[in-house]
Amino acid sequence: MATRYGRATAADVPSLPAGTVLALGADDWSYGRGLRAGSQAVLVVSRVRTELSGCYGGEWAWVDGHTPDCGEHHEPCRQALIRAAALRDHQLQAVAE
Ligand SMILES: [Zn+2]
Repeated sequence: MATRYGRATAADVPSLPAGTVLALGADDWSYGRGLRAGSQAVLVVSRVRTELSGCYGGEWAWVDGHTPDCGEHHEPCRQALIRAAALRDHQLQAVAE
């Protein structure tokens, strides 16, 4: 008697390359560390933690990263829970450019 929680799976969460710049609307993310909730945010991706996305039905993913200003010479100082849909949208844009 299996119960399905939505159609999305972890496979729906794209693994964006490090250095990808995500310009997020206020509704695209939540639980940001070092980011102000309810605001737009720019995050330079260090790593999409795809291994954790299953916890959220594949609809959200934790992303570690940086602000555009801080360079990448230290451990990721920003982290946000981002909608997988927002990551996919960004991926499509990156491919198109
Ligand atoms: Zn940083």
